[in-house]
Amino acid sequence: MNFENFLGNEKIKEQISYLFESKKLPHALILEGDDGLGKRTLAREIALAAVCRESIKPCRLCSQCKKALSGVHPDIIERSVPDGKKVFKVETVREVINDCFVKPNESDYKIYILGNAHYMNSSAQNALLKILEEPPEYAIFILTVKSKSMMLETVLSRSCVFSLNPVNTSEAAEFICKKCADASLEQAKNTLTEWNGNIGKAIEALTSGKASEVSDIADRICSALVNDNEFLLLKECSSLDGDRQLTSNVLNFFKLILRDALLFEQGGCLSGRKESAELLYKRLSKQKLMALIECTDSLCTLPDKNINNSLMITKICCNLKEACGK
Ligand SMILES: [Zn+2]
Repeated sequence: MNFENFLGNEKIKEQISYLFESKKLPHALILEGDDGLGKRTLAREIALAAVCRESIKPCRLCSQCKKALSGVHPDIIERSVPDGKKVFKVETVREVINDCFVKPNESDYKIYILGNAHYMNSSAQNALLKILEEPPEYAIFILTVKSKSMMLETVLSRSCVFSLNPVNTSEAAEFICKKCADASLEQAKNTLTEWNGNIGKAIEALTSGKASEVSDIADRICSALVNDNEFLLLKECSSLDGDRQLTSNVLNFFKLILRDALLFEQGGCLSGRKESAELLYKRLSKQKLMALIECTDSLCTLPDKNINNSLMITKICCNLKEACGK
């Protein structure tokens, strides 16, 4: 199989290619890993290969590939959790099961990509289990999950689990440069750092001209904090409003700057934001920097929690100020 869009993870590629080419691909695959590691990309590559008509799959050129690439292939069905929600509805699972008994339209397979399947509660998983026990010959279910530990043992035992690993930064940066012609290698590396190694998000940031959005906000938070400017701090935190991914990245990046400040005397700057690191280093004691790191660490879990936006913003502001001793 030709995994053009999916980087690294050579062993997984080999295994999937083998299963695919020897026609031993199981009816259920679980792709496990953190956000941004490429679970959805890999799922789509497998689906693409399954519908492709050429011998080296996926060719990306045949009519089947073209339909799949533009997201209109009738035999590739994607279902996930709506944005901001944390429930994969049992109704959606039932709808998938009903659809599954209708034969494929054009392809030999019918592929269901079920994203964030770890948000299925046990009744949803049990509903899915019924079809995994006796799937139609043509059906392939690809589930993406944050951690397989969130899935029922019975579902896992019917599936083939693949755990994805992060891709090294240089390889990822080169890939980004190929996709975004305007980006330099260094810009690609910096953007990857800002987006926690999330290749998809880094490309999005670069192409939408928001390449330094994360680091800019983090910079301004640093400055507002040391200057004890409560209004500015609130303003910067409010600019995160509603965007959980952005909030999480800004917090992670801010933590990186704090680490750089703490280790300022040792030199080296992981965040690439030397000025902000220096500012924090000069104006805050080591204890305060450590308190801020600890505080930011716990704030990093907020975007994943079921907490409303204004409460989240207020909590970030208050906790940072408190850790700073203001
Ligand atoms: Zn093709």
